[in-house]
Amino acid sequence: MIKHVFFDLDHTLWDFDKNSRETLNELFEEAKLEEQHIRFNDFMSVYKGINDSLWDDYRKGNVTKDELRVVRFGKTLKQLGVYEKSLEAFFTEEYIRRSPLKENLIPGTLKTLRTLQEKEYNMHIITNGFREVQYTKLTKTGLSPFFKNVITSDEVGVNKPDRKIFHTALRIANAKQTSSIMIGDHLLADIIGARQAGLKQGYFNPMNKPHSEKVTFEFALMDELPRLIIR
Ligand SMILES: [Mg+2]
Repeated sequence: MIKHVFFDLDHTLWDFDKNSRETLNELFEEAKLEEQHIRFNDFMSVYKGINDSLWDDYRKGNVTKDELRVVRFGKTLKQLGVYEKSLEAFFTEEYIRRSPLKENLIPGTLKTLRTLQEKEYNMHIITNGFREVQYTKLTKTGLSPFFKNVITSDEVGVNKPDRKIFHTALRIANAKQTSSIMIGDHLLADIIGARQAGLKQGYFNPMNKPHSEKVTFEFALMDELPRLIIR
């Protein structure tokens, strides 16, 4: 019987892509990059390529989060031929300040959380984000009251899929592995991590990405989750 539901935050409940795009669109307009004959879609595709590869470097330990936050914009602006130090600083600072204030959630999030709350499941967050940033997102979107505990990699000192973060979360929540499930969109960090730590796993896979991992269950729409947990 499941009693504790641990959720990932980014891309699982908080619509990271939509919130990020909205923020970058605002900054792009304020920086008047269109006047320099750059289109927003081009800016986005350059940024996305650079950002993704920097996150890979970060996971390998080749770059720190602070470096990543600056370098992704510096490189984007350089590649587009519009680099200025002040512009790099503007994007770096304003992106970090504004994006956590965005309120777009993955469709079905509120309905799912309300249903699980009515059924008296204990809900918690396990996230690889920065503590202050993740708390801002939870407060701003009104999600905070649903969760008894928020465990961030920042505070634990390791990222998912390290089993230490799952075991720390279980201890803080006073939960048993066998009555706990991890819900997340990242196959390695959330799902394989949770499996190795002995929790059940619900893989949120909205794009139906193929894979060959054994998971407790998989779902593509957040609305489907309560039915899968409650049965
Ligand atoms: Mg995620």
